Amino acid sequence: MSAPAAVAPEAVRFAADRMLGRLARWLRVLGHDVAYGQHLGGRTLVRCARDEGRVLLTRDTRLRRDRQLPPHVFITSDHFREQLRQVAGAVPLGGAPLLRRCLDCNRALDEVPRERVEGRVPPFVHQRTERFLACGGCGRLYWPATHRTHMLQELAALGLARSQS
Ligand SMILES: [Zn+2]
Repeated sequence: MSAPAAVAPEAVRFAADRMLGRLARWLRVLGHDVAYGQHLGGRTLVRCARDEGRVLLTRDTRLRRDRQLPPHVFITSDHFREQLRQVAGAVPLGGAPLLRRCLDCNRALDEVPRERVEGRVPPFVHQRTERFLACGGCGRLYWPATHRTHMLQELAALGLARSQS
């Protein structure tokens, strides 16, 4: 007999099909690890979900015939807001920090001191920003900016996140 662990549940990981690029990025905004790319479709996607313990997100209705399909959500809408709601209704979202994952390549971002980003961001941003985040994969830099505020407002409107930072 073991007592239940007192840790927060791990954020659900996903594998999203090629038709769900926008949804994949929004799930990354929410902190989820989302496998997504042009190489991931059909059987390759199913294998990725199964091997890596990811929830499969797909619009490919042909996959419905697979009786051994790993845990999955069939996405029916064309619109990312509706898609996000559909995922939220099927799987618990959240459990990971917001905006800490590269939207392009899915890697967790690292904090970098401001002196290391000098010359790589506009001078006024460098001056006014204390904390930067960098992707070790593509090198993209992130910092709190208006797009972040917009994302948080969007998530709040969807009922998926609190509106403060
Ligand atoms: Zn990246």
